[in-house]
Amino acid sequence: MSLYDNFVPGVTPSQKTDEPSLWFAFQEGNLLVRQSTAGDEVPTAKDRLTAAAHTIRQQYLGRLGGQHCYSLELTPKFTAGPDEEFRPLRQTFGKIPELQFAIAGLAYQVVEWDRTHQFCGCCGAKTEALENERAKRCPGCGLTNYPRLAPAVIVRVSRDDQLLLSRSPHFPEGMYSVQAGFVEPGETLEEAVAREVAEEVGIKTGNIKYFGSQPWPFPNSLMIGFTADYAGGELKVNRDELEDARWFSANELPRISSRMSIARRLIDAFAAE
Ligand SMILES: [Zn+2]
Repeated sequence: MSLYDNFVPGVTPSQKTDEPSLWFAFQEGNLLVRQSTAGDEVPTAKDRLTAAAHTIRQQYLGRLGGQHCYSLELTPKFTAGPDEEFRPLRQTFGKIPELQFAIAGLAYQVVEWDRTHQFCGCCGAKTEALENERAKRCPGCGLTNYPRLAPAVIVRVSRDDQLLLSRSPHFPEGMYSVQAGFVEPGETLEEAVAREVAEEVGIKTGNIKYFGSQPWPFPNSLMIGFTADYAGGELKVNRDELEDARWFSANELPRISSRMSIARRLIDAFAAE
């Protein structure tokens, strides 16, 4: 299901305050979720949430079907209702409706960007939000800031009927994944793929092809997925970054990442070939 078949992004809130709305409310980075017998979802009632005493800031995000979507940063004093709970965004995957999860990723990044760009990074003056654009301008020096994204490449390297998986010391026990890393200034995405693989496991790659992408709002990445073929060199694990790296056949895979990740889609696609 594509988000933008159903969601119309916007910056300027509706003038009519009685229209149906959805509230993506965060407290210290956790999303407020309402539990009901029909399933979990984000709250639709705004009155308690937007009480001035609780709200640090709110932002308009756009319209999902007939509902206006807002993000909101709540103070630590706000307490969730009896049928509500604050949850880390990752833990809401598969629990709240798919489109709400996608918008929650946007909401989280807008809230974080707003929170960390209240003042100009150049001259320190208080910034002002532009009315028709998701941007903040400094009235002192004119510097304009847009929400930040950190592009990262993620690549599945294969050699005949095997694929390369590695594990970082930060992974849960026994878990392996494909290679990934942030794009550096001045690099093309393909160069970032080749560099990351060479740095982490010492091999050359070729036939680098785009696979797909995924927003990764933890906190502000865009994962850009590729497939690549082994093109030479000895597998040599960089111990500063990885604990292990090995070639695996599709029928003897180790523990891999969850359904929500593009890493999993890359691995599943290999296994299906
Ligand atoms: Zn400034």
